[in-house]
Amino acid sequence: MSTRSEQPKREAEKFILASDNRHKYDEIAALLSTDFNLVLQSDSGIQSPPETGKTFTENALIKARHACRESGLPAIADDSGLCVDALGQAPGVFSARFAGEGATDAANNDKLMRQLEKVSNRKAAFHCVLLLLNSPDDVAPIIARGVWHGEIATHARGVNGFGYDPLFFIPHLGKTAAELTPNEKNTLSHRGTALRLLQEKLNVRRAS
Ligand code: IMP
Repeated sequence: MSTRSEQPKREAEKFILASDNRHKYDEIAALLSTDFNLVLQSDSGIQSPPETGKTFTENALIKARHACRESGLPAIADDSGLCVDALGQAPGVFSARFAGEGATDAANNDKLMRQLEKVSNRKAAFHCVLLLLNSPDDVAPIIARGVWHGEIATHARGVNGFGYDPLFFIPHLGKTAAELTPNEKNTLSHRGTALRLLQEKLNVRRAS
């Protein structure tokens, strides 16, 4: 007689991550349950489509559809960015290309520092939309979002993470996101929150 613990483990389901960003991959893969086998689209030779949406959700859908179509696999897309109160919520969906198409993190951070020179309202938030599609024509994508509130520091600090992390200051910790360990960041971050929600929604769908 087989006991519960002897039951065969569910085989890991393969998903394509609609991104070229290995940092995002690492953060997402660290939180996903082991029955996901996540593959970065750039490791499969899939290029990113133009992000023409006006919202994080529109862009996540564009990226997920493209990755799904190109790979023939279910896809998870992450569209995320930094919204700064004093800049009317910019750079927002333009976060990756704030200093121009193909800009480096350093160039984006320099531009942000310059725009906030002598600005006292430093409030900002990271937003993340995670979206899961089973096929390019999936009419019911699973969508989960997360927000992380903080402030823009006056100087870059820390070496962990990516993007605007060295400038994103968390007042109650007295640290920037780049001074957190990957685990600490995932516990608090916009991406960590969205990912836990996505996983919950997926579990509900699988159980129904
Ligand atoms: P996307 O790849 O079009 O979603 O652009 C995301 C951009 O937002 C990144 O290139 C970063 O500039 C910024 N961003 C998103 N999430 C984070 C984060 O967790 N830390 C730092 N910057 C982030």
